[in-house]
Amino acid sequence: MPQIGIQILLVLCLTSLAHAELPDPYAAQRQKMVETQMVARGIEDPLTLKALAEVPRHLFVDESRRSAAYLDTPLPIGYGQTISQPFMVAFMTEVIRPRPGRKILEIGTGSGYQAAVLAACGAEVYSIEIIPPLAERSTALLRELGYRVETRAGDGFSGWPEAAPFDAIIVTAAAEFIPPPLIDQLKDGGLMVIPVGTPFQMQTLMLVEKRDGKTRSRSLMPVRFVPLRRSP
Ligand code: SAH
Repeated sequence: MPQIGIQILLVLCLTSLAHAELPDPYAAQRQKMVETQMVARGIEDPLTLKALAEVPRHLFVDESRRSAAYLDTPLPIGYGQTISQPFMVAFMTEVIRPRPGRKILEIGTGSGYQAAVLAACGAEVYSIEIIPPLAERSTALLRELGYRVETRAGDGFSGWPEAAPFDAIIVTAAAEFIPPPLIDQLKDGGLMVIPVGTPFQMQTLMLVEKRDGKTRSRSLMPVRFVPLRRSP
């Protein structure tokens, strides 16, 4: 019965269509972001570029802001906090060299986007957020999207001693000085990237390297981040 054969074929085709992954409508915008905002401004690390081309940034912002997710700008994520400009995420990712087998601590999970980018590079990521509802929301989203990130709600000033030492530490809020516990929790040869300066003024993005128990710091560029808070 050829007709039954055709019907079965049709059902099979429709079933496989229903299970096929829907194309990501933002993929083209993401690729354009990587070319115009990152490659054109000197980001070269292939793993960083691949992660930025993959991670769906639009899912880390409120639905009402999705159309702006790939623009060259920071965006509000609620509670007075922001998701950094994509270039800043790329720049900070590249300088700390996330790789499979490297353990990285992030202070300031926020939306979870930076943590997802580090995880997409293959690093083992730990991230701390001080505002509990933001911590809950980003933890749920990272899990739903399948990124392997250990998260915790709390004050990142003290780091994550049980998981230390780290190959790299990335602080995504501006500190008035480099928190000593974070230096203690860096491996020898480890790198930390951190904005340092007065809240709501121009700050300096610093790269700190720990070698033979000593630290060497150099300034990378002027930046503006939300302040690193302290728990009362
Ligand atoms: N990396 C985030 C950027 C978030 S903005 C992202 O990709 O979206 C900085 C975040 O740091 C805010 O969510 C803020 O609540 C958090 N933060 C500020 N002080 C902190 C502290 N002491 N410990 C942990 N998180 C802190």
